[in-house]
Amino acid sequence: MATGKINVSVENIFPLIKKFLYSDHEIFLRELVSNGTDATLKLKHLISIGEAKVEYGNPIIEVKVDKEGKKIHIIDQGLGMTADEVEKYINQVAFSGAEEFLDKYKDSAKDSGIIGHFGLGFYSAFMVAEKVEIITKSYKDEPAAHWTCDGSPEFTLEPADKTSRGTEIILHIAEDSLEFLDDSKISGLLNKYNKFMPIPIKFGTRTETLPKPEDAPEDYVNETVEIDNIINNPNPAWTKQPSELSDEDYKNFYRELYPMQFEDPLFHIHLNVDYPFNLTGILYFPKLGSDMQIQKDKIQLYQNQVYVTDNVEGIVPEFLTMLKGVIDSPDIPLNVSRSGLQADGAVKKISNYITRKVADKLKALFNENRADFEAKWNDIKIVLEYGMLSEEKFYEKAGAFVLYPTVDDTYFTLEELKEKLKENQTDKDGKLVVLYAGNKDAQHSYIEAAKDKGYEVLLLDSPIISHLIQKIENDNKDVTFVRVDSDHIDNLIKKEENTISKLSEDEKATLKTSLEAYIPKAYSVQLEAMDSQAAPFIITQPEFMRRMKEMSQTGGGGMFGMGNMPEMYNLVVNTNSDLASSILNTEDKTHQEHLVKQALDLAKLSQNLLKGEALTAFVKRSFEMIK
Ligand code: ADP
Repeated sequence: MATGKINVSVENIFPLIKKFLYSDHEIFLRELVSNGTDATLKLKHLISIGEAKVEYGNPIIEVKVDKEGKKIHIIDQGLGMTADEVEKYINQVAFSGAEEFLDKYKDSAKDSGIIGHFGLGFYSAFMVAEKVEIITKSYKDEPAAHWTCDGSPEFTLEPADKTSRGTEIILHIAEDSLEFLDDSKISGLLNKYNKFMPIPIKFGTRTETLPKPEDAPEDYVNETVEIDNIINNPNPAWTKQPSELSDEDYKNFYRELYPMQFEDPLFHIHLNVDYPFNLTGILYFPKLGSDMQIQKDKIQLYQNQVYVTDNVEGIVPEFLTMLKGVIDSPDIPLNVSRSGLQADGAVKKISNYITRKVADKLKALFNENRADFEAKWNDIKIVLEYGMLSEEKFYEKAGAFVLYPTVDDTYFTLEELKEKLKENQTDKDGKLVVLYAGNKDAQHSYIEAAKDKGYEVLLLDSPIISHLIQKIENDNKDVTFVRVDSDHIDNLIKKEENTISKLSEDEKATLKTSLEAYIPKAYSVQLEAMDSQAAPFIITQPEFMRRMKEMSQTGGGGMFGMGNMPEMYNLVVNTNSDLASSILNTEDKTHQEHLVKQALDLAKLSQNLLKGEALTAFVKRSFEMIK
């Protein structure tokens, strides 16, 4: 038996390994199963190039828990190691790797965001084991080797009688890590980290009932067999070519990824590139509605089919973190912090590629089946609108597929909308006026008034719409967006001829004074000569102020400090209405006040502004009037 001392600069590295990232001890299993996978894939390669003259067979990796012996075994049928190789790869390479890793990261804060803590490798075994054994037989014609190390720098290396090719790692679990002897704990970890690894992983066995033979007698008792319980899918959909997969395959893979998700995704995007970086993956658009928050952290990041993390911040553009699915890339550096990631050139390229692919796919979907795309619009718009605001590259492509629906469910692209508006929807400066509503119910009377005049009214109800409108106006100097309740419709859109006012200038001044005497200060009175049939009183909220206020409320960091601004309203009074004449001609001041207040309340009611005490008083007063 040979004994030796691992050449260390730190006297005892193992306590350090143990202390390092306490909460991440569980990654030891991923690291050891990954090593077994690598060893198997290396053997496959050696055989394929004629370097190894052995049978590949159907190798698997087995994980076994020995509760009584307090041991975990990880067994592979890969290329194995000779004694010399153990000396070289485990005592020197693996060790210096671990040492370097620790050197680099032991000082960094725990939350430095090193993704998945890759790189610790074999020695991560000592995070949970007090003693580790390696029994390994190389594919080469050399005796097996048995390495043992108890966590001090001393190790033993002796011949072993293992005859089958491959490596068995035996972990003697430390007292403080006995939780890992739980079957459910191990199967949970395998499921989390190794679910899609390329070599089948066996954990225990399960019984399966054999099918009943055709000539079975009446009293046939079903036969059962014990079969290996393979916990992973070695060929997940994203590793295949899109041409090999049907729509149903993509949906099945979605269910495999999210077993608890019962709703099918709306569509998928298959990512597949190998130059200038390597990236595969499948992204899914789930049904989103307008809730932006709940969906994050659903995209899983893999490296060569090994799970790394579900936090893809910095790798996937932020607006796409609302999607689901998988990306797999060996080119994403995993031992850097999040901020390091964002500064990384390769990562920036990956992020741009994903944005471009998503835009291309949306365009294709739009062109292939517009009706279907329109039907899905409400479920995807929040992602797209957010993307237009946050990624210039996406914004540039978005014109080809982003839609603007009307309150009656007609969908326009911006270009189509402009064409349509040219007919009869321009303001006094000749700009195209995009009328929109934020809420069909709340702005019902205004929508009706606009539709009566033959105008198109959009329904734009996303929480971030005011920001988007602002951006679109900046880039399209020929259009202006105004909400239907931002002014009287005839002031928003150019009229052919002005309606003549029934009132003289003197009468108007008197009316204005009477009105201002009874209405609250928050309203500014605006007299307009309109069609006598138009509503006598309407309340409007000027577009600019309302939009700025909305923008400061939905991000934009208290833009212009308008977050706390009071609401500003105009009271538009139709001077040609009978009511205006009545108010003007009523001598009795009490009665006049009554008229003004009742009319104001009715106007408020149609803008959804009459609430609480004011509403109660209004209803009471109205009952009095009809009694
Ligand atoms: P890495 O896998 O990143 O190289 P490790 O510390 O995990 O680092 O392993 C060091 C080396 O030990 C590997 O490169 C490999 O040569 C060898 N090794 C580890 N596990 C196995 C195994 N199961 N079969 C064969 N060789 C192995």
